[in-house]
Amino acid sequence: MWNEDIDVKLQVKGLRIGGGMPKYNIDLPTLSIDYASSSIKGVLRKAARKVVNSIGGLGLDGVESEVFGNQNKEGKIQVSVRENIVEVNSTKFLVTEDKSGSHILKCLVCGEEIKYSEAKQHLKVCKRRIRSGIKIDSKFGSVKSGHLFSYDYIPVKTLKFSIKPILPLSDKEALLIYYSLNFLRYESLGGFGSRGFGLIEDVCVSDKFREYVVKRRDVS
Ligand SMILES: [Zn+2]
Repeated sequence: MWNEDIDVKLQVKGLRIGGGMPKYNIDLPTLSIDYASSSIKGVLRKAARKVVNSIGGLGLDGVESEVFGNQNKEGKIQVSVRENIVEVNSTKFLVTEDKSGSHILKCLVCGEEIKYSEAKQHLKVCKRRIRSGIKIDSKFGSVKSGHLFSYDYIPVKTLKFSIKPILPLSDKEALLIYYSLNFLRYESLGGFGSRGFGLIEDVCVSDKFREYVVKRRDVS
């Protein structure tokens, strides 16, 4: 049985979490990084289905609904974003480290990295990272007039989260989660995947969990 948090770090190419209300003249704003949990769980479940369908012989049929739940029962895991975020005048900053290991802040609006003491000053010069998109008329493949829209995104390159078991995970459930995490590479998290946002380029799982699963997989 596995009953600890599974810590994961993803390498991503920027991120857009849909669902925000239009603001600051942005048609399609993104939610903040701390709202990414349900997107992560969704993409993990999608990966789990691929695992079950593509790796036969593991006896993982039915394990997916134990882990992720179905209409009748709750799943066994919760996903939560594991990032340290501080807010200064309603702008969010990620607490991170520079090369020397000192704590710095990364502005979640423009991506610039600054010292703690510079946060208030930064807000005066912060430029929102907005990109403009064009809606294409699907019927004619042409640009519709008056259909420019603007959107923003979260300028992060990594995203850390934890999978928290609500109940202890059986070896098969742990194995499914492990394979699903490996299948996350090249999946897209959040919106605008076609523009490369949220593309998961690498997945890093805690050594302890990997060793646990690999040991049991090789025995059985
Ligand atoms: Zn900024």
